[in-house]
Amino acid sequence: MALRFFNTYSRTIEEFAPRDPTKVDMYTCGPTVYSRAHIGNFRAYVFEDLLQRHLEARGFEVHRVMNITDVDDKTIRGAREVGVPLQKFTEQFKQAFFKDIEKLRIKRADEFPGATDQHYIDRMISMIGTLISRGLAYQAEDKSVYFRINKFPNYGKLAHFDLTQLQSTGRVRHDEYDKEHIGDFALWKAWDGEDGDVAWESPWGRGRPGWHIECSAMATALLGDEIDIHCGGVDNIFPHHEAEIAQSEGVTGKKFVRLWLHCAHLLVDGQKMSKSLGNFYTLPDVLAKGYTGREIRYALIRVHYRTPLNFTWEGMTEARLSLGRIDAWLERLRECAQEENVQRSTPNAQRPIEESEFENALDDDLNISAALGFLFETIRGTNRAMDQNALDAPSANAWLTWWNRINGVLALEKEGEKIPADVMKLVEERERARAAKDWRKSDELRDKIAGLGWEVRDSKDGPKLARRGSG
Ligand SMILES: [Zn+2]
Repeated sequence: MALRFFNTYSRTIEEFAPRDPTKVDMYTCGPTVYSRAHIGNFRAYVFEDLLQRHLEARGFEVHRVMNITDVDDKTIRGAREVGVPLQKFTEQFKQAFFKDIEKLRIKRADEFPGATDQHYIDRMISMIGTLISRGLAYQAEDKSVYFRINKFPNYGKLAHFDLTQLQSTGRVRHDEYDKEHIGDFALWKAWDGEDGDVAWESPWGRGRPGWHIECSAMATALLGDEIDIHCGGVDNIFPHHEAEIAQSEGVTGKKFVRLWLHCAHLLVDGQKMSKSLGNFYTLPDVLAKGYTGREIRYALIRVHYRTPLNFTWEGMTEARLSLGRIDAWLERLRECAQEENVQRSTPNAQRPIEESEFENALDDDLNISAALGFLFETIRGTNRAMDQNALDAPSANAWLTWWNRINGVLALEKEGEKIPADVMKLVEERERARAAKDWRKSDELRDKIAGLGWEVRDSKDGPKLARRGSG
């Protein structure tokens, strides 16, 4: 089955056809580093990670770029408020972002270009110059340079609306009278007092680039004039991605992006996340409630990317339970795979398979619900076979191999967690108590271990430790 995705540009499901049958160039809009990213942002990044991993599982070599927006109104304001240079201000949030994506097991992009890199600023200036020379941009009275949307007939195609709507509904701000059309967007913003020392020289005077041109410049610099896949959240469709198309195609004359994929919103308890509602969560906020990065990854990945995801604490509990089922299943399979010499009542009752239903589901516009449905159906089936002593070691091994393959896409396997030294000490003490048949002491120690968040289970191979609540 061929890969198929919903293209925002055409609003249809299309067969995936990258320019090179073995390589995929992918551009994903990254964070604006003025504060810690929130879980809604991470939903989009987790979706992009799933997409990349699935494409790789299907044999494509993926080259992914994620930009870092390190200059805009919000970063400038933030730096001014705390009185530090812009670069110093943004660096802390950039590093926090890298830490967060690592926690969520999101693969790092091949490049994370920053907008303030002089190399890209030069490219932005050169692109703006080309747009002006073609009549697609103009410098207004306020000294800023704007894109002339009326000269780009395809403007509005991605968002599927016509420009007359924009004329009738837009509220005109005082500083926008200088523009020819209310929808014209800034390519270069003339310096003003608020910008402080954040400015670059350009043929149009001192100033700084607009947000949209940053992405056009970095995307085309690193991936070329034509890109296979461009992703983002639905919030990015208009005006950001619409503007990226106008600028890039206005300069290159080539179709900028083959496939546009957009991830739906994340809601919290059915409402839009906002600081005033008190339902605004960063990754450290959720980690502080005792959840792991893996559990958050599961909660964010399990809903189809085009469906709004409602984040709730019950959902986090479900994520924990689902992962616990996977963990327990793997542990059981591994034990079963070891027992080479045990005679099974009906060997091979559960077929060792080369099933690709999981991958087939993801081929279909990343249908994660169907893919996970197949995983849990498999868990139920093989557990039943193990209950009946009907799964032999080779079959168990075959399922473990299958899991390794799909885990390359899901990245949900439990890490061999490091057991803290104080917990280890109590476990050893408890073993000595058990050896001395001091059951009361042994029970007391078990409670102490539980108090530290760990559960000790006794097996024939000795004590086994697990995080409490991990199934
Ligand atoms: Zn962008």
